[in-house]
Amino acid sequence: MSNNPFENYLSTLKNTIKKAGFDEEIFKKLNSPDRIIDFEIELNGKKYPAYRVQFNNNLGPYKGGVRFHPQVNLEEAKALSAWMTIKTAVVDLPLGGAKGGIAVAPKKLSEKELKKLSEKYVENIYKFIGENKDIPAPDVNTNEKIMKWMKDKYEKLTNQKAPGSFTGKAIKDGGSLGRKEATGQGGAYALKFFTKKQNLTPNNLTVAVQGFGNVGSYFALAAAKMGFKIIGVSDTSGSYINKNGITKRELKKIKEIKGKKSSIKEYLIKNNKENKLFKRNEILKVNSDVLVPAALENAINMKNYKKIKAKYILELANGPISAEVEKVIDKIIIPDVLANSGGVIVSYFEWLQNKNKEKWDKEKVFKKLKDKINKAFEEIYKEKEKNTLTLKEAAYILAIKRLI
Ligand code: NAD
Repeated sequence: MSNNPFENYLSTLKNTIKKAGFDEEIFKKLNSPDRIIDFEIELNGKKYPAYRVQFNNNLGPYKGGVRFHPQVNLEEAKALSAWMTIKTAVVDLPLGGAKGGIAVAPKKLSEKELKKLSEKYVENIYKFIGENKDIPAPDVNTNEKIMKWMKDKYEKLTNQKAPGSFTGKAIKDGGSLGRKEATGQGGAYALKFFTKKQNLTPNNLTVAVQGFGNVGSYFALAAAKMGFKIIGVSDTSGSYINKNGITKRELKKIKEIKGKKSSIKEYLIKNNKENKLFKRNEILKVNSDVLVPAALENAINMKNYKKIKAKYILELANGPISAEVEKVIDKIIIPDVLANSGGVIVSYFEWLQNKNKEKWDKEKVFKKLKDKINKAFEEIYKEKEKNTLTLKEAAYILAIKRLI
């Protein structure tokens, strides 16, 4: 069983090319990155492995996040850069795919050390990035503040003003309104579009969400506002399962318990609802119509997939279903390359606003986000109708056609 996410990408790519009847040569064009920048950062006597992987820029400058996590490794960065390439192509952005990261536990560093580490990261890659070359953004454990440090360092090293060289900045530093909600909000638009296509209505559908971080929490709130009934949410501390529905007010209250991995447990204890607290893996077994993995890669794997009762899966995390499971699972899957594209779409809007010296209001950002997701989903359906394809295969075919 492979838990190597890059192997998973290659497996999906190979399978799609075969199913679409494309020339096998296409596989060679999309099976390896254009450039790998692989280095070490030395800080206070310790060495941290670091990467920037630029996968493909056929459609525009490379684009992708920077992750700070002890498990960051080259294979993961390669996979995330490849998925980003497919994602930007699916939603028709004039951008390519990249990803980077440092193998570090950022919470163990002081603020000063974190700043130094971020600056050293830029020192190693600044010649290869820039507004029209490669535009990094936040990912797991990186944020607005880190983007500002990196952008400032980049501007210093290149002796120019380059606000669009990084996205995911704070509003005061040139960030876009709606960026922090974008991935969850975009996922909710995708789910709403899907229900319409299936002749279903949100009010009759129950939803369970695994992961209540940036993506999962904004998704749950947006979906609840659209009328979907959220009957379960989880984080590393456990699952809150309530068949009667979790209200928007409750979702907001859980979200307010900030900076803690244990928001769900803490919320339930504080509110005398411990009888609704279940083990974290119980979320996968909830009897809901839709399951939304919004936590980690390979969350749904050979060990647990048979326990899933939901009929539909909205992939909000990147690669939450392992490649082996993807081949055998009998669920309808709304693929990650569409479902979680809201983040990169609004990053693109931020880049545009920076380049054109504009400031869009949140209404405009969300309207344009919704249009992009709906248009891409419509195109995926058109691909799908021509053949007996899954939505993921159709999305990959759409992307491959644009990339080649
Ligand atoms: P995050 O760190 O803010 O949140 C992750 C959440 O998952 C946390 O609530 C954590 O407690 C929970 N979690 C971790 N392991 C769990 C488990 N075993 N069971 C239940 N909950 C668990 O991260 P995020 O930014 O929300 O990203 C989540 C996923 O979405 C990642 O795969 C990321 O690559 C992907 N993604 C994020 C964005 C973005 O804009 N942030 C965009 C596209 C894709």
